[in-house]
Parts: sequence; C-alpha cells; structure tokens
Amino acid sequence: MSETEGVIKFQLDFKRGGALDYAQIERIELWRQRLMRLGLIGQDDKRYEGLGFGNISHRVNYSGVSHAFVITGTQTGQLQQMDAEHYALVTDCDPQRNRLQAQGAVKPSSEAMTHAVIYRKLPQVEAVIHIHSPELWRHAQQLGLAVTNPAVEYGTPQMATEIERLIDAGLPRGHTISMGGHEDGVITWGESLHAAGNEILMLLGELQSRAQ
Ligand SMILES: [Zn+2]
Repeated sequence: MSETEGVIKFQLDFKRGGALDYAQIERIELWRQRLMRLGLIGQDDKRYEGLGFGNISHRVNYSGVSHAFVITGTQTGQLQQMDAEHYALVTDCDPQRNRLQAQGAVKPSSEAMTHAVIYRKLPQVEAVIHIHSPELWRHAQQLGLAVTNPAVEYGTPQMATEIERLIDAGLPRGHTISMGGHEDGVITWGESLHAAGNEILMLLGELQSRAQ
C-alpha cells in the first residue's frame, strides 16, 4: 500500500496568522504526551516512512460556530513539546464539498475532516483522538470495534462518509472506530478529553488481559 499520511486531501481555506489564543492547549498537550510515550502518536523513522502519525482535537467556542475545534498541526508528530503555535483552529467544514476552513500559525492535521464530521454529527462530543496502534487495529474485530471499509483511505471525503455511516448504524461498542483502510489507524472520541483518552487505555488493557 503506497498510502502515506500527512498529505492534506481536502480543499483548505487557510488563514495564516499568529499562534492560537486558547488556554486549553496545555491540557491537550498532557494527553498528547501521554499517548506519545505509548507510541500511539508521534514520529518514528521505522514506521510509515518516517511520517508523523496521530492527532488530537478539542471542540471550542468560536463566534457561534457549533462545530469549531482546535487540532494538532499537520506533521507535528516529531515534536516532543507543542504549544499554541503548533495547533490550528478549524472554523468551518463542508464534508460534501470536501472543504475545510482553518486558521493559525500552522495548517491543520491532514485528518481534520474526519474529526470535523464527528463534531458535526455528535454535539455532545468534546474531544477526538486519532492514534496508530497496530495492536488495536489488528484486533479490532475481537474487541468488537466497528471498522471502516478497507477500500477507503485516510483523510478522504469517503472516510468522512464512512465514519458517519458507522455512527448512524450504531456502534457495536463504545465510541471507537478502527480505520480498515488506514494501517494501524484508530479513532475515538468522548464527552471530555479524559473520556476519549481513557477509552484507548481501556481497550489496550483489555487486549493485554486477553493475552494473559
Ligand atoms: Zn492516521
């Protein structure tokens, strides 16, 4: 599979500006660093041709747009420490037309559209986390996770449609989807960052206890 992560596949209307003025980034960073230590977000020369992987986002209040959110910038996986200048603010999106509007000192993650459809679809969701976990991805069925169509690649409008379809169909368990056509890709969400992050830790724990 020649699919590589990091290439933005949506039409991006981007307003480059200064670092975001958003106080919650420190909190997002805590979870990002935790997931980095577990190898679920980051950059590794031996994985995915050295491209950064994984991303994290949080809903924000922005001039009346109900589905605005901040998300890690594109190709920031190698950074150990990030602050407001490494996050982008997504102010609008149109999954049907594959268009996304954002601003900040860095462009949003190439998987921002997938995050966007979750915020639009589920008003109670406050945080979305996309990780790369070979363990969870390979055991998706065993864990009872919904899986997107393997023919659908990351970051495409089709992936956004797939996520919507699976949510509409009712997820067999929890709020986690394995991305069949995106090697090791798993996406989860929650009513708080903590809820989303803990879901990942819980799934990994469940796998460990099954292996024993
Ligand atoms: Zn990914």
